[in-house]
Amino acid sequence: MQHYGVAPRRRTVTVDVGGVKIGSAHPVVVQSMTNTDTADVQATVAQIKQLADAGSEIVRITVNNDEAAQAVPAIVRKLRADGYTTPIVGDFHYNGHLLLTRYPECAEALDKYRINPGNVGTKRQDENFRTIIEQAIKYGKPVRIGVNWGSLDQQLLTEMMDENARSADPQPARTVMILAMIESALRSARFAEECGLGHDRIVISAKVSAVQDLVEVYQRLAKECDYPLHLGLTEAGMGMKGIVASTAGLAILLQQGIGDTIRVSLTPSPGGDRTEEVQIAQQILQSLGLRSFMPQVTSCPGCGRTTSTYFQELADRVQQYLREQMPVWRTAYPGVEDLHVAVMGCVVNGPGESKHADIGISLPGTFEEPVAPVFVDGALYTTLRGDHIFEEFKQILDEYVARRYGGAGSARPTPSDDRQPARAE
Ligand code: SF4
Repeated sequence: MQHYGVAPRRRTVTVDVGGVKIGSAHPVVVQSMTNTDTADVQATVAQIKQLADAGSEIVRITVNNDEAAQAVPAIVRKLRADGYTTPIVGDFHYNGHLLLTRYPECAEALDKYRINPGNVGTKRQDENFRTIIEQAIKYGKPVRIGVNWGSLDQQLLTEMMDENARSADPQPARTVMILAMIESALRSARFAEECGLGHDRIVISAKVSAVQDLVEVYQRLAKECDYPLHLGLTEAGMGMKGIVASTAGLAILLQQGIGDTIRVSLTPSPGGDRTEEVQIAQQILQSLGLRSFMPQVTSCPGCGRTTSTYFQELADRVQQYLREQMPVWRTAYPGVEDLHVAVMGCVVNGPGESKHADIGISLPGTFEEPVAPVFVDGALYTTLRGDHIFEEFKQILDEYVARRYGGAGSARPTPSDDRQPARAE
């Protein structure tokens, strides 16, 4: 799928992660990570299901100690028994070489191993790294070599900083840090291949927490290899800051054709909804026109012409209604995720925006006649009034979806008997 303004995807090999393909020949994959204690099988299974139900196509869990590694097979067994096929990735730091060899069932059950080259030990770094790669080869698993600037290989960084200091034309420290991240990722990937891991078994990430650093590190990385790239701003932060920063960074790169799988690393508020990161990742991809997950509602911000809250409530109810229907609609009405609905606040842009949508409603602004014209496929379809505008609009929406996506083609609907079509004047 090629969209106007979006650069062609950077060409990569394809990596198969438990049946989910990552690479330029495939859509950008949405993934997420649990924040439960992995040793708590019940809680971890429950959260993986929530993330998968929200649309996460791969889920990563931390495997940080013996208890977590022992829990992994039970987690995966339970998920598969309950019909969840979502690939599960183990996130390893410091002791991955020990856990993967000590718990072969864990190594077998996982669909991918994430290795952080900066966190595989300092003294026997290569040996530990090799051990993890040997397990990946033994069990036929791909790996993600995930460099993070917060845990960058300090030995490598120091060497490169020293070399830079001796150079006749030294680079700024920030540039050296970015180059060190890339070197760490690519050197590790080369080493993994030297150990016998297939070229198409490696995904790379190089995460930083500042948007411009993220863009630069991935642009450079993209030019230097054909491994699929996992994009994400690390430690993106909470709430609006995290959402905006992640969107800004990921959107720039995706627009340039860079990135094969994404994760939005939001800090949830206490007791917050972990699936938010999945919804945001999907929305980033859909807003860029790269993938479709959910019907999109265009609504105006409202202004002094909409002094009542009715318009906001209606926009919210429509959005909510669409979200609630999707689990059923997704199966019953293939393609419905491309549906475009408009809910507008007044006559200024309401009819125009509604005509651009598949189905749109333009509510009356303050002092306007209390009628709400509904547009279907660009033409005035009917005019609603009274106290049941939402219910009637919902009915028109349901009929439209059934007619358009229910296998009967895209014939334009006609108003039902109890609604008189408005005269287009
Ligand atoms: S469509 Fe009307 S209510 Fe909405 S922002 Fe524009 S002028 Fe204001």
